[in-house]
Amino acid sequence: MSEQRDSYKSFETLAIHAGQTADPATGAVVPPIYQVSTYKQDGVGGLRGGYEYSRSGNPTRGALEENLAALEGGRRGLAFASGMAAEDCLLRTLLKPGEHVVIPDDAYGGTFRLFSKVAERWGVEWSVAHTSDVASVRAAVRENTKAIWVETPSNPLLGITDIGALADVARESGARLVVDNTFASPYLQQPLALGADVVVHSTTKYMGGHSDVVGGALVVREEELAEQLAFHQNAMGAVAGPFDAWLVLRGVKTLAVRMERHCANASRIAQMLTAHPQVTEVYYPGLPSHPGHETAAKQMRAFGGMVSFRVRGGEQAAVRVCDRTRLFTLGESLGGVESLIEHPGLMTHASAAGSALEVPEDLVRLSVGIESGDDLLADLQQALADV
Ligand code: PLP
Repeated sequence: MSEQRDSYKSFETLAIHAGQTADPATGAVVPPIYQVSTYKQDGVGGLRGGYEYSRSGNPTRGALEENLAALEGGRRGLAFASGMAAEDCLLRTLLKPGEHVVIPDDAYGGTFRLFSKVAERWGVEWSVAHTSDVASVRAAVRENTKAIWVETPSNPLLGITDIGALADVARESGARLVVDNTFASPYLQQPLALGADVVVHSTTKYMGGHSDVVGGALVVREEELAEQLAFHQNAMGAVAGPFDAWLVLRGVKTLAVRMERHCANASRIAQMLTAHPQVTEVYYPGLPSHPGHETAAKQMRAFGGMVSFRVRGGEQAAVRVCDRTRLFTLGESLGGVESLIEHPGLMTHASAAGSALEVPEDLVRLSVGIESGDDLLADLQQALADV
């Protein structure tokens, strides 16, 4: 496969071909769904294709893992049953009881819940930093800090963290830098090349891209860490099933073209919202007024498909906007071809209520899909009228 990576360097080509040589048994041009739990052995321990049991390894999952490693420019990719399963495996690999992790003050609510309600019970210490501010992260680092965890762009406030700057902080502190790249996808941003140690994905989102699969992934650049993660992946067992792995592989093939359209539509919507009288604030890193705009321009190819905004009139007005859209579907999740709208405070981030990660009650989050930009703008304009 490294041969394939050497000869196909551009992202679009890797997305379609990395890990996906024609099936040796049939010549099928896409990897088949190897819906199988175990493999015939030629005598005890004589493994024909290197596979013995599908928790430990499965050819369809293997194709996805190879593909993910290529797209993120990593040494090894690992595919999981969900983004949270990937995060759980990572935290239990990187951190022991008594060790500490710095987490961002703007992150997916489930990530916060994992640290505050699960990891803490097992003795893992955590504290919150404003990761857009390097000094805030430096101040949060302790002697026992083993990981600095970042989401950029963040969920749901679209905050931007300078990955290169935090990689320096992590290196100086002997900690590993973890970047959740779910919002950007590797088409827009490649954290390992910027100095991060681990990339996390909810492949449920842009990688899958069609709102039809739940999955997660980790990609790393160090072989030793890759081995430790692979050991835990197998020992804990929350692996991606063959059909789910196949769906993500299929989604990834069109990632580049989908992301271009997501970004173009989101940019138009952010501009419209900025000028709208019912909107008090717009969060989109593509806007020159966004405090992270310059950093985003430096480390991202474009600014993504997620837009958040605050509605004049508080929580009730924000909820009304969510109820009124016709094309934007009210629902959790993001990154699919269809546009979604949600109220983070009452939906995806309800678990962060009362914490440092609590979100404003008048906030609305959009996952801008790849429908016609004109139709999307019209839908939002009618939903915001006299709200
Ligand atoms: N990371 C981010 C940024 C997310 O938005 C999500 C889910 O919304 C996750 C991780 C968790 O992924 P999953 O829902 O696939 O478990």
